[in-house]
Amino acid sequence: SGVEAMRMDDTPRATSKNLDVLAEFEKKKAKNAANFVVIGHVDAGKSTLMGRLLLDLNVIDQRTIDKYRKEAEKLGKSSFALAWVLDQGTEERNRGVTIDIATNKFETEKTAFTILDAPGHRDFIPNMIAGASQADFAVLVIDASTGSFESGLKGQTKEHALLARSMGVQRLIIAINKLDTVNWSQDRFDEISQQVSAFLTAAGFQAKNVTFIPVSGLHGDNIARRCTEEAASWYTGSTLVEELDNSEPATRALDKPLRFTIGDIFRGGVQNPLSVSGRIEAGSLQTCDALLAQPSGEKCYVKGLEVDNETADWSVAGQNATIHLTGIDPIHLKVGDVLCSPSSPIQCIKTFVVKVLAFEFLMPSGIDVHRGRLHAAGRVTELLATLDKSSGKVTKKKPRIVRPANIARVSVELEMAVPLEKGQRVVLRSGGETIAAGLIE
Ligand code: GDP
Repeated sequence: SGVEAMRMDDTPRATSKNLDVLAEFEKKKAKNAANFVVIGHVDAGKSTLMGRLLLDLNVIDQRTIDKYRKEAEKLGKSSFALAWVLDQGTEERNRGVTIDIATNKFETEKTAFTILDAPGHRDFIPNMIAGASQADFAVLVIDASTGSFESGLKGQTKEHALLARSMGVQRLIIAINKLDTVNWSQDRFDEISQQVSAFLTAAGFQAKNVTFIPVSGLHGDNIARRCTEEAASWYTGSTLVEELDNSEPATRALDKPLRFTIGDIFRGGVQNPLSVSGRIEAGSLQTCDALLAQPSGEKCYVKGLEVDNETADWSVAGQNATIHLTGIDPIHLKVGDVLCSPSSPIQCIKTFVVKVLAFEFLMPSGIDVHRGRLHAAGRVTELLATLDKSSGKVTKKKPRIVRPANIARVSVELEMAVPLEKGQRVVLRSGGETIAAGLIE
């Protein structure tokens, strides 16, 4: 259309400030920014816990919760009021399940956090993968009430922890939740901590990166304020908020070439007809920069930027940004595409070798490759080798099958070339199941 044609010629009118972005970043001494994902079995209390955190840190007020509680009572689900802070769509509310990644922000003294709320429902694992691929650490919520821990272990607790590890998450804060239902039993807490430690070690988490905290999300105990129940006096460790504030600053790939995966596309704004949001994974950018969109190979320009909902001149790796674009027809962009620096662009590839942890039996067969919001259909074409878990040495060449919980090197061929590169983490899925996850070599 005429409008679109005009937009394509709309090269930036403003002139670049030519900032030394890394120097600006140092000068600003921005608060440490950390993204985390909340994982765990359905009904473990993830949404309730995060709603409580936002309430106790005054991100939301009691009036909002009371409003949610009234709405919830109408549906006969009053206990879900806190959870609804995160579950934003009505469909989700009616089902009582968190579907998409609702993004929520809060700050402590040292850190600006973004919660990437992961859903507990089985069908929604692709969203959880999108969350985990952007996370600096994960909060794993476990239901301590009688019988629930055991069924959660068989359910998504292990799968989520394994997935998070395969997506590069190294640090876990484990909220052993609903301790109110077992009268703050230390025995129960210890029993669960021991069993969970055992499988986390097997999944490749280092003990020093794993912390256990007994909490009650519903009552707000050991979240922002310490539990005052006599029965809980045995616990003298950190509250969840104190533990969150222990986060090490994420190592940022600031001086690498720009990589920004599009998480969302917004069209039709009056001032900014085309905007994209997502996290800067590597490098930096500033207003007026020329960018290359992959896989389309089209150029575009940064008309303006927003970082944490404020207008900004620049943004760096680790930040979540909205980029207003010009000079490109939106038909060339979709969710999962990568914006990168034209001088060192990401390549689009059709075949690659990936080192994976198998979740299910793995054979040459059709699979979907997921990386954050990027999905691509393809095939595992060849099993190259199985590898030893600790040494990484080849234990068997060209195996016919890879068993669950084993590590292997496999070749993948995609139907279409997509922007992927060495060192990125991908998940292989088929028929709604996670088959394997690992690192592109
Ligand atoms: P999610 O599926 O993991 O997000 O779980 P929800 O936050 O929706 O909680 C599931 C159910 O557990 C709801 O009925 C909550 O009220 C309840 N619940 C959550 N946390 C606690 C807790 O600390 N103590 C008790 N007794 N119930 C809780």
